[in-house]
Amino acid sequence: MIYKNISLKKYNTFGLDYKADNLISIKTEEEAISILKENRKIDQPLFVIGGGSNLLFTGDYKGTLMHSEIEGITIEEEHPEYVIVSAGSGVNWDKFVERCVNNGFGGLENLSLIPGSVGASPVQNIGAYGIEAKDIIEKVRVVSVSDGSVSELTNNECRFGYRNSIFKEEFKNRFLVIRVYFRLSTNPILKLDYGSLTDEISKLGGVNIRNVRQAVVNIRRSKLPDPEILGNAGSFFKNPLVDKDFANALREQYHGIPFYDDPSGKIKLAAGWLVDQCGWKGKRIGDAGIHEKQALVLVNYNNATGKEIFDLSEKIRQSVSDKFGIELEREVEVIGSI
Ligand SMILES: Cc1cc2nc3c(=O)[nH]c(=O)nc-3n(C[C@H](O)[C@H](O)[C@H](O)COP(=O)(O)OP(=O)(O)OC[C@H]3O[C@@H](n4cnc5c(N)ncnc54)[C@H](O)[C@@H]3O)c2cc1C
Repeated sequence: MIYKNISLKKYNTFGLDYKADNLISIKTEEEAISILKENRKIDQPLFVIGGGSNLLFTGDYKGTLMHSEIEGITIEEEHPEYVIVSAGSGVNWDKFVERCVNNGFGGLENLSLIPGSVGASPVQNIGAYGIEAKDIIEKVRVVSVSDGSVSELTNNECRFGYRNSIFKEEFKNRFLVIRVYFRLSTNPILKLDYGSLTDEISKLGGVNIRNVRQAVVNIRRSKLPDPEILGNAGSFFKNPLVDKDFANALREQYHGIPFYDDPSGKIKLAAGWLVDQCGWKGKRIGDAGIHEKQALVLVNYNNATGKEIFDLSEKIRQSVSDKFGIELEREVEVIGSI
């Protein structure tokens, strides 16, 4: 189905009311293949969107957006210790997590309540509470945008990194993810050593996969704004990685600075803390602002433009650079001119 001159308000969680020239909604793998085989009929540029929960549009989109509505959750294989479950790229991420948790399949519970679609999970390598999508993805099924051919990428071939994958690098906009396969445990080892997860679980009773999910949901609801109520795209910036010497020098100057060892050998700093130290939490410029409880989340109080939100993010980056000498990288993808 192709929509012309369509409002993007329901396709981005900042709630920005821009328009796209064309939006192609894909309901099945077969439909994706047949449309993409005739790619020359598609007005360029082409950009694939999911739920728009990691996007910032700065104006009307002149070209074609492709949106997967491919549904379906299937248990593909059952083994004594694990199952392979697949989900269509248009399935709502949290509905998928809920279904798996209710079936007793472990591995996804820490990723509860992350907005967006299954299709974006490998693209973004989504992560929360010490787990990333890369830990449980078996393979990713894709259709080539240029000729409609179907292929599958193994976990290794996806080249996952921190909120990154091959789909954001050399495969950017070259493939539509149609189905993602997850390896989930039937005898899960729960990961609880993150933030206040254990405290929240103890309030709920025993340690089990359903309570882990509920604890994550409770904590997230208490900390993060609901995009249905206050437009936002979650963390606007990535947590920066810095060299050990640089981190040590910062630690001498700022005693409370949170830092974490990263498997890369570098030190990961908390971008939210850095932004907070620059005095941004709760600030507002017009209708663009920084959430009062979470300095990493930029919000649209109602009528902000994408450009106003972008400009605010640049001011924040500048002040973090001036104070700490650290250049924050955006996690949210900006679409349009700036
Ligand atoms: C309140 C809030 C909390 C959040 N918390 C977290 C969190 O804890 N952890 C986290 O990692 N993220 C978090 N996010 C960010 C966001 O939810 C994730 O990045 C999510 O995976 C984006 O999914 P989406 O379907 O909305 O993708 P979009 O935002 O539409 O797109 C994201 C990227 O994926 C690509 N893409 C989407 N679908 C497809 C497809 N089918 N095929 C190919 N490419 C595709 C797009 O081109 C784009 O590059 C949060 C966002 C919000 C609003």
